[in-house]
Amino acid sequence: MGGTGGSPNDDRDGHPATYYHATRDAFAPLPTLDGEIEADICVIGGGLTGVSAALNLSERGYSVVLLEAERIGHGASGRNGGQLVNGYSCDMHRIRAEVGLEASKAFWAMGLEALAEVDARIDRHSIACDRRAGYLFAALNTRQMHGLEEMQEEWSTLYGYDRMTLVPRNAVGEWVGTDLYHGGLSDPGGGQIHPLNYLQGLARAALASGARFLEQSPVSRLERGPRPVAHTKTGSVRARFVVLAGNAYLGGLVPETRSRLARVSSFVGVTEPLAPDLAARLMPANAAVADCNAALDYYRLTEDNRLLFGAGAGYAGREPLALRRYLGERIRRVFPDLAGIPLPHAWSGHIGITVSRIPDFGRIDPTIYHAQGFSGHGVALTGLAGKLIAEAIDGDAGRFDMFADIKHRNFPGGPLRIPALVLAMAYYKLKDRLG
Ligand SMILES: Cc1cc2nc3c(=O)[nH]c(=O)nc-3n(C[C@H](O)[C@H](O)[C@H](O)COP(=O)(O)OP(=O)(O)OC[C@H]3O[C@@H](n4cnc5c(N)ncnc54)[C@H](O)[C@@H]3O)c2cc1C
Repeated sequence: MGGTGGSPNDDRDGHPATYYHATRDAFAPLPTLDGEIEADICVIGGGLTGVSAALNLSERGYSVVLLEAERIGHGASGRNGGQLVNGYSCDMHRIRAEVGLEASKAFWAMGLEALAEVDARIDRHSIACDRRAGYLFAALNTRQMHGLEEMQEEWSTLYGYDRMTLVPRNAVGEWVGTDLYHGGLSDPGGGQIHPLNYLQGLARAALASGARFLEQSPVSRLERGPRPVAHTKTGSVRARFVVLAGNAYLGGLVPETRSRLARVSSFVGVTEPLAPDLAARLMPANAAVADCNAALDYYRLTEDNRLLFGAGAGYAGREPLALRRYLGERIRRVFPDLAGIPLPHAWSGHIGITVSRIPDFGRIDPTIYHAQGFSGHGVALTGLAGKLIAEAIDGDAGRFDMFADIKHRNFPGGPLRIPALVLAMAYYKLKDRLG
């Protein structure tokens, strides 16, 4: 354990230098692809989507080869906020508008199933990943508080979810030691995990069930057709099916998925362990917390009582000039007592977002499946993606096709997509500020 120091995104042997990497369980490096091999399934990308797909498919008896460009967990899955959140990144009314009320109930149920699946996997494979229950959506103004009231009503009356409790302004202190919020909504169904240890646990389970994982094997070309072939510099995998699970890290391998995905960055900083009385004062309920802004703050205490604080959203590839200063300022706004607190760990990561914020699952060819665009809400939904891909490849595509039938718009702007995204984000940030 201890500070990683150095620049925020120092790669160490293919791993980003994060708190998670510094505190993960031992996980030996895996070999690199060498030569030409065949398998039923080739999965491209070793994050939660790819590893979940590999696990579900190998459990169903398929031979699976997973190719990861760097190390398992190099992408968003090994550097996120570790928050397990119910529902989807978009509001449920967005899903209702796409699919109608009855089908939206099936989407709701699949969201719940995604969270239940995390716990089932943790139990089944004995994954030590600091799973804790408890979640607070925090309102920064009265408009957001009304939004939370409506959400509670909607989730209860339309979807039968009665577990959430409104937290009035005078009770926020039981959850978070700050004067910033106008109230909140608590959800015992949400919670937190150490995402890299969870992912590594899933990877171990997949390896134990016979899947082959190859690291530092970036796929540079995909030969499409009835028997697609994934090529790297050092070999190739010919398969009956390919699963594209590179999400915001995939780049231009397949043009069709790229235009539907925008890549934004989010930033995370971690303090030294807080004294127990300070930790208890700032986070008395030890729940995960997120505010309701589009460019939101999200935070929680780690197992060793550090504040792990995520914030903001920037457009692809750019970081605030001084990441630690930026994060320090965001932390101070919530917890003035922590002004100037050192952040031994700080990093950024890419989030893949869709226009509607509904995840984008589908087939590019009959032999090529993809899942991407969890829009900042993927720790649990990625497991569902892996499960539904396995169901579909195994002949029961009903649930996968509910997602695949949703028409995703391309991000406007073509080559000017980044400026268009910057304008959109500036708009949302302004909306956040106006309240
Ligand atoms: C900073 C941050 C905070 C977040 N916080 C939360 C949160 O608190 N709660 C939540 O629910 N969600 C959160 N998210 C979102 C969540 O992490 C993602 O939705 C989820 O991890 C996506 O998983 P994935 O497997 O689809 O993609 P990734 O984890 O990004 O994995 C993609 C993998 O594909 C590999 N790859 C790409 N191209 C190739 C290629 N050509 N060949 C081989 N391999 C390739 C990459 O190296 C990478 O390892 C956060 C994301 C970020 C970045």
